[in-house]
Amino acid sequence: MIIGIDLGTTNSLASVWRDGEATLVPNSLGEVLTPSVVSLDRNGDILVGAAARERMVSHPQHSAAVFKRMMGTGRTSTLGDRSFRAEELSSLVLRALKADAEAFLGMPVEEAVITVPAYFNDAQRKATKIAGELAGLRVERVLNEPTAAALAYGLHEQQAGRDGKILVFDLGGGTFDVSVIDLFDGVMEVRATAGDNFLGGEDFDSAIMDWFRETARIDIPLQDDASSSGSSAHMRLRRAAEQARRALGVEDQAVMEFEIDGRTAKAVLDAATFLRISEPLLDRLRKPVARALADSRIRREDLSHIVLAGGATRMPAVRKLAATLFGRFPLQTIDPDRVVALGAAVQAGLKTRDKALSDVVLTDVAPYTLGIEVVESFGGGSASGRLLPIIERNTVVPVSRVQTVTPVHDFQPQVNVRIYQGESRLVKDNIPLGKLMLELQPRRREEQTIEVRFTYDINGLLEVSARSMIDGVAERIIIEQHAGVLSADEIKEKMAALAHLKLPAREAARNRLLLARAERAYEESLGSHREELARCIAHFEAALANEEQQAAAMSGAELEAMIDRIEAAQKR
Ligand code: AMP
Repeated sequence: MIIGIDLGTTNSLASVWRDGEATLVPNSLGEVLTPSVVSLDRNGDILVGAAARERMVSHPQHSAAVFKRMMGTGRTSTLGDRSFRAEELSSLVLRALKADAEAFLGMPVEEAVITVPAYFNDAQRKATKIAGELAGLRVERVLNEPTAAALAYGLHEQQAGRDGKILVFDLGGGTFDVSVIDLFDGVMEVRATAGDNFLGGEDFDSAIMDWFRETARIDIPLQDDASSSGSSAHMRLRRAAEQARRALGVEDQAVMEFEIDGRTAKAVLDAATFLRISEPLLDRLRKPVARALADSRIRREDLSHIVLAGGATRMPAVRKLAATLFGRFPLQTIDPDRVVALGAAVQAGLKTRDKALSDVVLTDVAPYTLGIEVVESFGGGSASGRLLPIIERNTVVPVSRVQTVTPVHDFQPQVNVRIYQGESRLVKDNIPLGKLMLELQPRRREEQTIEVRFTYDINGLLEVSARSMIDGVAERIIIEQHAGVLSADEIKEKMAALAHLKLPAREAARNRLLLARAERAYEESLGSHREELARCIAHFEAALANEEQQAAAMSGAELEAMIDRIEAAQKR
């Protein structure tokens, strides 16, 4: 069975194509959104999802979130005394989703279509595939998130018998993607995509945190992102910032209260202030929209719909900006949190050649320009460090393109082909992807011709080959291992290490969440609330340890009611 997975910065979802439609898979708590958070508990169990998110506050040193931002970088997060790369943490989330899907379907799941931001580069895509492999899933297809959103909407429109040009505006927890799609006769053609890999709901939270720090005069060290090993105070503040941001969707102002150093710091965030502090972020949403439209050669007024995807498009400020940019209200007939996962299920259905989808054809594009470093000659001089584009951004994939180049010097024994991704004229401003080396027979430079071939597949993975047309023989085809990507041996090693980590039994999920929530509430409270909580947690834990089901149910219900009461009092 193939499942679809939206592996999000903030939340992840699994989906299946079943009985001619896309269906979301509930997790062990019955929810379809599983927070992309991982926490290691004292027994060495791995908690994934809502319980882990609670532990982000109570046990920040043992928990990690927002690791999608570290994909393909080789950077690690420390949980307790172990360190994990982003693909390992992601694999734990995938493992939980796989187990949910197996429980839901009643059959084993071996394969997944996983979505990635369109702007993910080669290393990030490879890391995503490896995360799947570490979780015991074959990932033959990685699908661009906005393309997945377009598939879900496209199918919706197609079923309604409508053709047209759609722009998908996808702002998630950590990334922003824009895609322009043309729908006609069952064909969904992605015409252009653009985006920003470092722009999402989390950045708006960081802006609120900075504002609160200044306004309420509190002293918490700054941190560059929302990933692991932050201090508990930092995590609490991030949570409060997110709550305030969400509250501003339904109210005119949000009261932020924060316990620190024995005092309560307080500030009121109103809509106008939020708009002011988020202005620089809102402004960054404009450029990818303009670029995607220009590249697609579709005019704003010719778009039939603007479609919102990603949880952060729920912010009124973002919707307002979208409405101003396009002169009309965006569509939101599918829940923005779910649309990408639903599209992933459609792709899984396409992969199994499901009859209900036999008329659907999807074409996608390369989201960025790919090329090599060259030395440019002009007049009597030359300039090095220039990018020679080989596959230009928004070319339809799969694609294979060839360029011929000559060596810089006479009798050069070898050439290094350095591969880059990006839109800048100088390679130093682009992202290096790797290099390959080609041995040459020494010749005069004008007697040598080298052919460089770029092949870019539907998953956005690149293969490069270089060949001397004169010597004929020498050819290298594999891009040298990128520092951010695990080798086959390393994958095996990681797999063995991860196998020791166990997910708790599915039946225990509710109790684990309740305990995690109680510990977080304890952390956030003071005085008598703490005493009450401590007593109730002890009862609940004892009942669980002694397997006294009735007593556990009773003390669990009491604990839950107590946390609700304390939280309601804190909000007042
Ligand atoms: P995603 O990556 O698509 O799951 O989007 C997650 C982001 O959406 C997070 O930054 C959330 O804070 C944000 N988000 C979800 N719901 C809301 C809401 N009601 N109001 C504002 N932001 C939201």
